[in-house]
Amino acid sequence: MMPRASGLNRRRLVAAVLLGLATTVGISWAAMFWPRRGRDYYGPPANTFVGYNRTSDGHRIFSIFEGRNSWHRVMSYWFNQISGMAMMMRIEDYEAGEVDLATLPRHLRPESVDGIEMQAWYRETGWPMPALTCSIHWVRQIRNSDIIYAVEGGYQLPRDEDFNPRALPLTPVWPGFAVNLGFWTAVWLGPLWAMGAVHVWNRRRRGCCIHCAYPRTGLPEDSLCPECGR
Ligand SMILES: [Zn+2]
Repeated sequence: MMPRASGLNRRRLVAAVLLGLATTVGISWAAMFWPRRGRDYYGPPANTFVGYNRTSDGHRIFSIFEGRNSWHRVMSYWFNQISGMAMMMRIEDYEAGEVDLATLPRHLRPESVDGIEMQAWYRETGWPMPALTCSIHWVRQIRNSDIIYAVEGGYQLPRDEDFNPRALPLTPVWPGFAVNLGFWTAVWLGPLWAMGAVHVWNRRRRGCCIHCAYPRTGLPEDSLCPECGR
């Protein structure tokens, strides 16, 4: 086999995949925290009304909201209540806005709203496609705004100074995770190839073997390297 004198070798290829992986995950994690607007939320505000869903006993109605930016989509399921008092609503109004949860993506919804205490947020993040997902669940209120949360499908970080929940999503979304990994690996191949090409060019310019840098002064152009045999 002819030894290749290009700027790309197996080591640089592996480096490109690892950097592609780090970029894919890093962007998905950064999207969980930026932008932060005020003290109420990270990422896009979930303020687009999607519809209603209710518990199987019919006693609790949840409002579903959605928020999006180019690298973060969040769906919020909120028990209709104000200051701990359940709000009443006419059945025809509920039915006009009812959403079948099964029509929503599996990783952006609960199995049913029965298991939601007060509120839950389902998130997917990444660019160019959504790559990771996790959900954050209201567990218990200690006092006003001091709320204990739990995270599913991700790593829970300590709450911030305003008691906002924070988490790093760890569950892959397919095919987005693979697409982003391929995309960012390809992006990293460019600079890594260039680094390799400069390296080879430098050795050649100094009259050294491009593989092991052994000085080839006085040797014929097409002879094998006496040091590494390539
Ligand atoms: Zn050599």
